Amino acid sequence: MDTRYLIIGGGMAADAAVKAIRRADPEGSIVLVSEERHPPYKRPPLSKGLWKGDDEAKIDLKTAAAATRLLLGKRATRLDLADRRVALDDGTSIAFERLLLATGARARPLPGLPDSPRVVAYRTLDDYRHVRELARPGAKAVVIGGGFIGSEIAAALRLAGIEVAMVFPEAAIGSGRFPDGLARAVTQDYQGRGVRVLAGRTVASAEERDDSSVVLTLDDGSELVADLVVVGVGTVPNDELARDAGLATDRGVLVDATLRAQRLGGGEAVPVYAAGDVASFAWPGLERRMRIEHEDNAYSMGAAAGRAMALSLAQERGLAGAAGPRHHDHLPFFYSDLFDAGYEAVGLLDTRLDLVEDWRVPGREGVVYYLEDGRVRGVLLWNTWGQVDAARELVLGGQAHAPEDLLGRLPTDDHHDP
Ligand SMILES: Cc1cc2nc3c(=O)[nH]c(=O)nc-3n(C[C@H](O)[C@H](O)[C@H](O)COP(=O)(O)OP(=O)(O)OC[C@H]3O[C@@H](n4cnc5c(N)ncnc54)[C@H](O)[C@@H]3O)c2cc1C
Repeated sequence: MDTRYLIIGGGMAADAAVKAIRRADPEGSIVLVSEERHPPYKRPPLSKGLWKGDDEAKIDLKTAAAATRLLLGKRATRLDLADRRVALDDGTSIAFERLLLATGARARPLPGLPDSPRVVAYRTLDDYRHVRELARPGAKAVVIGGGFIGSEIAAALRLAGIEVAMVFPEAAIGSGRFPDGLARAVTQDYQGRGVRVLAGRTVASAEERDDSSVVLTLDDGSELVADLVVVGVGTVPNDELARDAGLATDRGVLVDATLRAQRLGGGEAVPVYAAGDVASFAWPGLERRMRIEHEDNAYSMGAAAGRAMALSLAQERGLAGAAGPRHHDHLPFFYSDLFDAGYEAVGLLDTRLDLVEDWRVPGREGVVYYLEDGRVRGVLLWNTWGQVDAARELVLGGQAHAPEDLLGRLPTDDHHDP
């Protein structure tokens, strides 16, 4: 099979790329290959809206409407740069003119856990359906991890009436990301809602018992018996296709300012792009290269990569008026819901930076700034709405700020309807 544009991956970055290509090139053939058997869908509702009764059909991104051929349930196994061809696990291969790697990330497995259907490293729609099936009334769940996914899925399960225990090595939920006082307040809120929080604990060993439960032994010798165990301990980028093809990777596919991948050691330009969770990009304002694993990034980077692929091809073909791809410069925002608290944020939330906290109601409503040499690298808007653009400008501005400059700077929009 031949196609003008080949997209590997079936997530939100892939969907955004397809739609941007179609806008820029109404004619060119597009093929999307995804290992998942579902067409691209929105991933954030898997730990939020779907547990609150939202309709599963609403998460479908309707990618096929952009006149794309979707090859679902198929895995790309090898990229051959010289032949411009990708091999699939069904023995076929596809030749391309432009390729996008939108392979995202997979849930990091936690060694020592039994290979059991009751243990789920949470990432996909199939994982959601499976956990939902196990989360019957009266079920006991253990959530391992106190970061983004762990804290969201623990809240979702608790709201569904399940008995939930959380286990993680840090001192509190969100430690390392939220200032200590806020992390403590969030943890107390979870406890007040009936979540058993086992902070500062790790799982020493675990085994499945009689096909009906999993017994976890913690590092202090205590035991937890669970009907289901949900693991949310970070991700691993799916960058093997790029690495094995001789492209530059470093915990993600290294892309340039136009989201184009590069050969290891440099050399001539390749017709390969990467976007979303798998792409490692040098962010303006943050002064570092990193992967950003959030929805707004998947959409904005996917769209920018799609546009860049179409423009670079038009330029190569000498089409009249074809402009070169622009440099990608959208610093994404991200968000999370923790029971009835919520936040939006941009940049780096890392408590190793210098923190300036500006609370209107301590632990409930305010703004946290994360600074490096006085420059704002990250902003956490806690129950504070309508300030994402202003926060982004502060980060991109790159000026040094004294803490008192920042206090009172980003008031909440009182008209927000959460
Ligand atoms: C439960 C959950 C909740 C989240 N909530 C939020 C939130 O509240 N806010 C927020 O900002 N972000 C959230 N995120 C993060 C956000 O969903 C991700 O950043 C986003 O999904 C990344 O999109 P992507 O397209 O880059 O990668 P992915 O969504 O990981 O998609 C990659 C796709 O590629 C496929 N694939 C991988 N390798 C191959 C291969 N070799 N061949 C074929 N197909 C392949 C995968 O199966 C998958 O379908 C959440 C993530 C999860 C899992």
